[in-house]
Parts: sequence; C-alpha cells; structure tokens
Amino acid sequence: MTSSRRDLMRVAGGAGLMAAAAGVAPAQAQAGPKSIFPVSVTTIPIVGSTDVFPVRRIYCIGRNYAAHSREMGSDPTREPPFFFQKPTDAIQNVKIGEVADHPYPSLTKNYHYEVELVAALKSGGRNIPIETALEHVYGYAVGLDMTRRDLQRAMGDEKKPWEIGKSFDMSAPLGPIHPVDKVGHFTKGAITLTVNGQVKQKADLSFMLWSVAEQISKLSEAFELKAGDIIYSGTPENVGPVVKGDVLVCSIEKLPDMSVKIV
Ligand code: MN
Repeated sequence: MTSSRRDLMRVAGGAGLMAAAAGVAPAQAQAGPKSIFPVSVTTIPIVGSTDVFPVRRIYCIGRNYAAHSREMGSDPTREPPFFFQKPTDAIQNVKIGEVADHPYPSLTKNYHYEVELVAALKSGGRNIPIETALEHVYGYAVGLDMTRRDLQRAMGDEKKPWEIGKSFDMSAPLGPIHPVDKVGHFTKGAITLTVNGQVKQKADLSFMLWSVAEQISKLSEAFELKAGDIIYSGTPENVGPVVKGDVLVCSIEKLPDMSVKIV
C-alpha cells in the first residue's frame, strides 16, 4: 500500500468517526464512490415514536387566506395558488413544552412571523386528484414561516426571486409531527399566534383559500411529490414584526403549542 492510499483511508476513517460523533448516519452503505464528507439529513421528531421523519423538500403556499392576501396587496378572488420552497436544513426543530431560542437573522430590519399548519407527506406522485390527496399525508405539525419582509418586498418590487426573504437559515421553526392515525386531518379549527401573550394572528383553518388536499393536487401538477416532502399551508392575516426578546406562541386546535423566543 502506498503512503497516499494509507492517508486516504485514514481521512475516510476520520470522517466516519466525526459523523458518528455528530449523530449523523453515514449515507453510504452501498458500494461505489464514497462521499468525501458527511452531509446530515434533516429529520423531524414524531410524537409517540422514537423514529423520525426525514425531510426531502419544504414547499410553502403563498397568500392562502383571503384577509392575508388582501393585506399583502393581492386580490384573493382571482389569484391561483403559488408556491415557493425553503431549503430542507432551514428547519429548526422545537420540542413540545420548550421555548426555543430563535436567532434574529442578518440583513433585515422587519422580521415577521407567519403561523402555519404543516402537512408531512409519506408518499407522493404526479397529478394527484384532490379526492385522494390526503391519503399521502403522514401527519401534521405547527410551523412558523419566518420572513425577512423588507427583503421579500424589495425583491418583489424589483421582480427578483424571493429567496433572501423566505429561504434563509433557521427560517422554518417547526414542532414535532403528529401522525394522522392519532390526530386525523385538519380542515377546520382555530389557528392562533401570540407575541408576549398578546393575540396577533387568529383565524380558522377552514378559511384557507386552497385546502391541504387542493394544495397537494396543485403542487403535484408542477412537481413530482415524494415521501419526505412537507407543505407549509399558508398564514392568516395580521402578520407582523418581532424584536429580540419577543416570545411567540403558535397554536393550532388539537395540537400542542409551539414556542420560540427571538434572540
Ligand atoms: Mn407563509
């Protein structure tokens, strides 16, 4: 064995140890080329299980409640649904009963909350009919679609992509997933967000312009959906800014609250 071959093997062994120490599963049980470093898979805890939900993609629907659509300057009666994505590793897992520290991000002076119901898919497909769409849902969670509103608006004004306003690190705080076989589906029920105990957002899931089933159907016309995809189903009206020190409590009827503190 040459010394360079030995060095390579030592590096590979070191990477494996680092992965094990970080709790990251090495993603290379199969034969063939080895990854040169480990990249962690984003997962979400599942309530009542030691197993976790691996995340493939994060889809988000825009302007899915009429009153929020109006406050964003749109006409909710004419607009077809539209979607954007966040990177998978934007998820910040928040435990039940915890108030998780959420960092105020860089570049913004107008950082907004958006409380949302999140659907997690166990299967997918293309051109999924509305009638069977909910069969693909594994469970639901309470989520925040955190938004650098000033950057989102500025990019929109310039007809540029929204990413910097929506798709940044830690922009997707999320509670654990509640399986459908325990909690059922969510077509109605209160959705609420408080800041420092004051109610800021308060609406009903039945006010969605496009239901979760319709969102899955519409999304699957544009993308092949797969197990591991999660969908942020939109926020009601009265989005607004936070400052460091604020405590946000997100509530959806029948699910435990999800809380973060802006730090
Ligand atoms: Mn949103």
